[in-house]
Amino acid sequence: MFTIDAQQGQARTGTLTVKSGKTITTPFFMPVCTKGTVKMLTSKDLLATSTQAIISNAFILSIRPGLDVIKKFGGIHEFIDWPGISFTDSGGFQMLQPNFLLGVGKRGIHFRNPFDKNKMVFTPEACAVIQEAIGSDVAMILDDVVHYGQEYDRMALAIMRTQAWTKRFLITHTREKQLVFGINQGGTFADLRRKSSQLLAELDIDGYAIGGLGIGESREQMLDMIDVSIEELDPKKPRYLMGVGSPLDIIESVAHGIDIFDSRFPTMNARHGRIFTRKGFLDIKKAKHRDSELPLDENCTCRVCATYSRAFIRHLLTTDERTGHQYTSFHNVFFIQQLMTELQQAIAQGQFDEYRQQFLVEWHQ
Ligand SMILES: [Zn+2]
Repeated sequence: MFTIDAQQGQARTGTLTVKSGKTITTPFFMPVCTKGTVKMLTSKDLLATSTQAIISNAFILSIRPGLDVIKKFGGIHEFIDWPGISFTDSGGFQMLQPNFLLGVGKRGIHFRNPFDKNKMVFTPEACAVIQEAIGSDVAMILDDVVHYGQEYDRMALAIMRTQAWTKRFLITHTREKQLVFGINQGGTFADLRRKSSQLLAELDIDGYAIGGLGIGESREQMLDMIDVSIEELDPKKPRYLMGVGSPLDIIESVAHGIDIFDSRFPTMNARHGRIFTRKGFLDIKKAKHRDSELPLDENCTCRVCATYSRAFIRHLLTTDERTGHQYTSFHNVFFIQQLMTELQQAIAQGQFDEYRQQFLVEWHQ
């Protein structure tokens, strides 16, 4: 299911094969399509950015459109027209929103249905059933997600609860057509991260996710937590850092042994006019780009950069035209996918350190 093809320091490139037989080279990045679509991009756009995997939200999709609808089409791939690999997040993170969450107990997450306001409980068993029905290639086990900055005792409770939920999920899940990943938690407490990994390493799961990072701690803290988390895990299984997607965070996390990423960061920034370039972020809405004939990024080979000027895209964004958001979203996702391809190649050729240094120098120019 996962082979490591080359490694340099902790950085590694490999091949993940899902149960349908589709393969993907790591490290890779997944755009987020919570409701079954990435904002502003069609599935054909995503393919044109070299995106090969996406992640949607099982909890949200199970409420709307509902599992019966997705099943009628034969699963998520057919329903949303996605030929690539698909992950589903359990949705535990979304339930943290104060207008949803009623409380977390032994049984599961108690919350108010955002659409009909009924009280519901989301159990690890339901989480398994829902994701199998959706038919994603990789399911995430329900974890007890804790807000950043919570005290030690709450974090300690979360990892024990997540362990119990993981076992219950595995009893329910048939494992026939879907890989399952368990989630490491523990906030910024090194001993809890380690303990969480030790518990995960005891279980028969296909991969590991590291959750609850990239949400307020410093980059150094994040990398420290990655280091302690992966120490206890089976090195032959893939490691997925959830919710992290800035170019520098990706490069540094790859250097610390991460194989898989997902984030709203590229598309969310794109919609606000924050453009990824080799020379760092570019704020396209600034007045200095008003009549610029340059592309968004002079080094980019995407179809937006080949066609449109900064002046035109700035005009579209400042007049709130939808196509402007489409173009900037396309470029930012293309940029990240290009970065992932270059990281894969650099590791395979034993030139990761040189590539990383060169990228950092250009980024800070
Ligand atoms: Zn571009």
